[in-house]
Amino acid sequence: MSVRVRFAPSPTGPLHIGGVRTALYNYLFARKNGGKMLLRIEDTDQNRYVPGAEAYILEALAWIGIQIDEGQGVGGPHAPYRQSERKEMYRQYAEQLIAAGKAYYAFDTADEIEAMRKRLEEAGADAAQYNAITRLQMTNSLTLSAEEVQQRIAKGDPYVIRIKIDPKQEIRFKDIIREWVSVHASTLDDKVLLKSDGMPTYHLANIVDDHLMEITHVIRGEEWLPSAPLHVLMYQYFGWKAPQFAHLPLLLKPEGNGKLSKRDADLGGFPIFPLQWTDPNTGIVARGFREDGYLKDAVVNFLAFLGWNPGTDQELFSMDQLIEAFSLERIHKAGARFDITKAKWFNQQYLKGTSNEALGEILQNNGQWPADTSLDLDKVVALMKDRVTFPQEILSEAAFLFTPPATYEEAVATSKWNTDAQKAVAAYIEDLKIFEGDFLAESAKAIWAAAAERVGVKMGKVMQALRLAVTGAGHGPDLMLTMEILGKQEVIARLEKALATLS
Ligand code: GLU
Repeated sequence: MSVRVRFAPSPTGPLHIGGVRTALYNYLFARKNGGKMLLRIEDTDQNRYVPGAEAYILEALAWIGIQIDEGQGVGGPHAPYRQSERKEMYRQYAEQLIAAGKAYYAFDTADEIEAMRKRLEEAGADAAQYNAITRLQMTNSLTLSAEEVQQRIAKGDPYVIRIKIDPKQEIRFKDIIREWVSVHASTLDDKVLLKSDGMPTYHLANIVDDHLMEITHVIRGEEWLPSAPLHVLMYQYFGWKAPQFAHLPLLLKPEGNGKLSKRDADLGGFPIFPLQWTDPNTGIVARGFREDGYLKDAVVNFLAFLGWNPGTDQELFSMDQLIEAFSLERIHKAGARFDITKAKWFNQQYLKGTSNEALGEILQNNGQWPADTSLDLDKVVALMKDRVTFPQEILSEAAFLFTPPATYEEAVATSKWNTDAQKAVAAYIEDLKIFEGDFLAESAKAIWAAAAERVGVKMGKVMQALRLAVTGAGHGPDLMLTMEILGKQEVIARLEKALATLS
């Protein structure tokens, strides 16, 4: 049977970066096994629906490079892929379970359920649930006569359909990552399958759709592990073959204790969403990995390692290499620490590997590159890219190229701007003035070496002084390339200014 997996987000807000990891693992597994990747939108909870969230999900997946084979936005043989548009279809499955004695109608009002909870709590019950014991005291098709049930339904009394858990059994299944999971059915409650507005709950819609869409592997976050026994039981009740389950490890705080939250991200000053998100109600903008300057390949590589490793020392993996190396068996159970410094490290690596042209385009597109400059964009990128983590830092760290120094780093001026340095700089100015060739890094260096020698000064000893005169700082990127980018006239002007100001 060919592999079919799905990513099934609920459009309740911006997709969390953990959701992107879930989608990525599904995608890697599908591609590795020549299978299909589906996208299903689970929007049955109308109260939690957030406009724009679905479009955000599609955009985030496209940005990261996850291609959907079938599903929302693409279409396919099981359309529609948005559960709200499949609403009418779920009822028959809930009724099928009723007919088989595995579900029942329940007419209890919210107040009655609340009163039951109170009663149980007061009596000291551990868990006040609607379950195999309490259902016998409630208003449902197990306690009412068949006629009364029919009358109530005909009259239009609101009702839900609940699963009838058979409490006398152990539910066991083998999770690919967690091995055997075993839960006693008596601990489960009679979950609502169909709500009074006719909408299915997550549990019903999820199981029915996974079955109809012929999903072979359910790969999802650990937070769904507690629901898995119910799902396994539902497959049994329907007489359907259950898919295999793989519950992914939690993403932990950067310090490693507890679940990663939006608050941790805010405190740590890093994003937790793939793309920037503007809340449609409050207008509050949450930062995104993309807008913060993370390259998509770096994010993919970083996320792949949050819960999985290849078993070798190799750390840099392209999407294709990940597909090749990926297996569910190498995913670990233990939570994965969300170490943003690692994400930055990946970004640096991918930035170095990105062409100057592509980075130049980023700077032009984000509006950072000044329209009125005569500096060469390509060369500025080449000069700076090994020294920064994010594309936008190329320009913020290269301010000295655009404006001549207004001040000079004092400690360097005191220790390095001596008479030897001044002599060498003055000779350099003279030689530059008479130089007529192309002013490239190599020529800048050769002329500097010759000038220093002419006045009897060791070039290496006065190098930092030259840098100070040109840039105002004692440290920075390749000085000769810096001078090439500035051009001969600008270098001469800066050196003359340094001689006049510093001496
Ligand atoms: N709609 C669920 C979510 O938002 C899907 C859980 C699952 O994959 O079964 O995460």
